[in-house]
Amino acid sequence: MTNSDTTLFHGARLIVGDGSDAIDDAGLLVTNGIIVASGRIADISAPTSARRVDLTGRTIMPTIINPHIHAGYLKGAATDADNFTRENVLDHLRRFIYYGVSVVQSLGTDRDGVEIAIRDEQRSGRLHDPELALLLSASNGIAAPTPGDGNGGAFFAPDAILEADTPDQGRQRVHEVLADNPDAIKFWVDDRNGTKNKFGPDVYGAIIDEAHTVGKRAIAHIYELDDAKGVIRAGADGTAHMVRAPGPDDELLTLMRDNDAFVFTSMSIQKMLVDGSGWLDDPSLAETVDEASRQTIRAMIESADPEVVTSMKDGYRILETGLRRYSDAGVTVLLSGDTGVLAQFPGFTEHRELEAMVHAGMPAAAAIQSATLLPAQMLGLTDRGSLDVGNRADFLVLNADPLKDISNTRNIAAVYIDGSRVDRDNLRHTIAKRDHA
Ligand SMILES: [Zn+2]
Repeated sequence: MTNSDTTLFHGARLIVGDGSDAIDDAGLLVTNGIIVASGRIADISAPTSARRVDLTGRTIMPTIINPHIHAGYLKGAATDADNFTRENVLDHLRRFIYYGVSVVQSLGTDRDGVEIAIRDEQRSGRLHDPELALLLSASNGIAAPTPGDGNGGAFFAPDAILEADTPDQGRQRVHEVLADNPDAIKFWVDDRNGTKNKFGPDVYGAIIDEAHTVGKRAIAHIYELDDAKGVIRAGADGTAHMVRAPGPDDELLTLMRDNDAFVFTSMSIQKMLVDGSGWLDDPSLAETVDEASRQTIRAMIESADPEVVTSMKDGYRILETGLRRYSDAGVTVLLSGDTGVLAQFPGFTEHRELEAMVHAGMPAAAAIQSATLLPAQMLGLTDRGSLDVGNRADFLVLNADPLKDISNTRNIAAVYIDGSRVDRDNLRHTIAKRDHA
């Protein structure tokens, strides 16, 4: 091997992603897209032929991994099944890369096998494009039927959800999904404020059991405390949301910790009405979402019923307290954007979620670990998630330090995938062209 493909990134502050202290005057030595040395520059001996990239004054962190998205539905400001096409899924994957989100897992709302096809093409190398985030998919999720009224699964895609009424049907549905070799089995336990049926423990217990029989993770959508306890007792690997009021109690936290179950944060999706509309003016958001789309969301926020806003704020405060309780109890907390639904714009959402986690009281280094190494480990991705030797050189170069102000994660100077700099200007134009097509 020659040294021609070796680059030394030097001078930056380095956030490794494993929760350890940042390293100043750091170096990252990358050969053929893989990190071969990482740490203090003084401790790294680079070949004289190595290309050098001076990142003095910047901060480096791993690219973000979000295990909870719904690809393909959001276009402009509308979340709609009619938007779901292969091209729209690919557009989302480009938007993720633009913001330094390198891996996403879509949770149970695939249509016509589009996500699974893209995933398989990426996995086999037939689709090799560093401007697309790596897509994982749970294929189609499972929920209880509500006769004549759809189901309590994803509101924007009830017809993409498989329905099961009995334990046998639950097992049967898992087997149908297995034909796609899904990256997880997703199921919903939610009566949508009393308007839908939801499974009892017999049905979701069968789904979880069947998923585990074939080595798949089972991820439960829940909102209620009793349902959260029930799915964890039945062996679910994690919950796609934190519980709503009254928040997690000691019994749930102990159950989750003792069972090594994870909790997805999914906070920013509950925050749309909480913050007012000012966040829509964030220049970083404006880079990929046009003014008309932002205006639609702005109008929705500004015309919201004040009583609804008050109740959303109260509910959100319970989530913030809940996040601290999960975290303090030692439950594995994973960043989750629920991206691609409502105002959860691909790529930007993940940065807003990080900000929500830190504002709720999580230390910034821990929140970054929950957005990088921990989700990589959960997803079984052994070659990424932290900027350690042997991993892929997928990282964000930031103009300012996110440990001082977490919103600096979206003050992006550059995104590197496999050690190569993404052409973000070109990517932005590709995304914008599509908006006006
Ligand atoms: Zn979701």
